[in-house]
Amino acid sequence: MEFHALVDPRRAASHRELDALLRGMPKAELHLHLDGSLRPATALELARERGLDDGLDLAGMRARLAGPAQPLDQAELLRAFDLPIALLQDAEALRRATTELIEDVAADGTRYVEIRWAPALHVERGLSLRDVIAAVVAGTADGVAAVERARTGRAPAPSAPGADSGTGADAGRPPVSSPPGTDAGLPAIVVRLIAVAMRSHDPRANVRVAEEAAAFGGDGLTGFDLAGLEASYPDPRVHRDAIETARAAGLGITLHAGEWGGAPQVRRALELDPARIAHGAPAIDDPSLLDELRARGVTLDLCPTSNVQAAVVPRLADHPLARLLRAQVPVTLSTDDRTVTDITLVDEYRSAIDVLGLTPRELWAMNRHALDVAFLADDEPLRDRLRAAFDAYAAGEPLVRG
Ligand SMILES: [Zn+2]
Repeated sequence: MEFHALVDPRRAASHRELDALLRGMPKAELHLHLDGSLRPATALELARERGLDDGLDLAGMRARLAGPAQPLDQAELLRAFDLPIALLQDAEALRRATTELIEDVAADGTRYVEIRWAPALHVERGLSLRDVIAAVVAGTADGVAAVERARTGRAPAPSAPGADSGTGADAGRPPVSSPPGTDAGLPAIVVRLIAVAMRSHDPRANVRVAEEAAAFGGDGLTGFDLAGLEASYPDPRVHRDAIETARAAGLGITLHAGEWGGAPQVRRALELDPARIAHGAPAIDDPSLLDELRARGVTLDLCPTSNVQAAVVPRLADHPLARLLRAQVPVTLSTDDRTVTDITLVDEYRSAIDVLGLTPRELWAMNRHALDVAFLADDEPLRDRLRAAFDAYAAGEPLVRG
């Protein structure tokens, strides 16, 4: 029986029932930017402390941080990041923003998240790349501990290796009472980090980012990305050295592609042999490219609402997520930016059903696929435990059971 037969959208209660389903569903989010997800209240506080608030109140800050409602282009969207980046130039602010983001995604029912950010954008006031990464790693440990405390009333055991950060083995942790759909001892949330290199930066500087990121591989930094303005810097191949440095160090490779320039930009990214592509939605226009994505098993980490903001598609309903999924192209669903795009992952999941027409089973299959392609090579037993927890949930939820 399909979802809408059980939860009649004509009934007022249906939205609450759908929300309950989507909130209760354990979720994995692979495409989420730290700087685009700064809480407006925190941004206001940081801005006031630093004399950057321009007299804004909370509503004004929220509006300032949100990307353009009317689609313009990727360049216009990227300007929304200027203020959060200006506010995140010291270790304390970076650490706090990371902690709060982990708390926010956990409140959405997310059990696994990859958080990405560009370390080289946070060195304007004296931090080194290493300082920047260390601050985000520390904020991750704080966030994981805070979520664990909220769920269980106790912090992760400090003696357990990696328990502080939700990274590495945590077999030494004492059993805790677990939320539904959870196996005992699995952290309430598992976090991995992705260092982003900027397309606009000098290729040699990006090699440095890759080298510094690689040094944190044991601390849960497991991925490397290339992002930024595509129209001005269309060719990702000039950054091949940085990407190969990261790959040689064992980092998973994902590349932003297709927010400008259509399917040819996705093709260019494929030449660098990424495991995943951030966005890549315009691939739908090129059947031979779809064949290649399928054959190589490259996953597109899609963010439909963000794509409307970047004018990749004119309206949410035009987004090709459902067509890509039904064409057996590997895809996942993420927010991209909670604050700039002004959505939660539950919002994006709801839109996938209400606007894009996915069935709950399709949504679930896509969500479950995220665990298979997550950058968790540093702890495969943990990936297996996450899979087991997700599968246990699905076994008890007829709306998503295959
Ligand atoms: Zn992105």
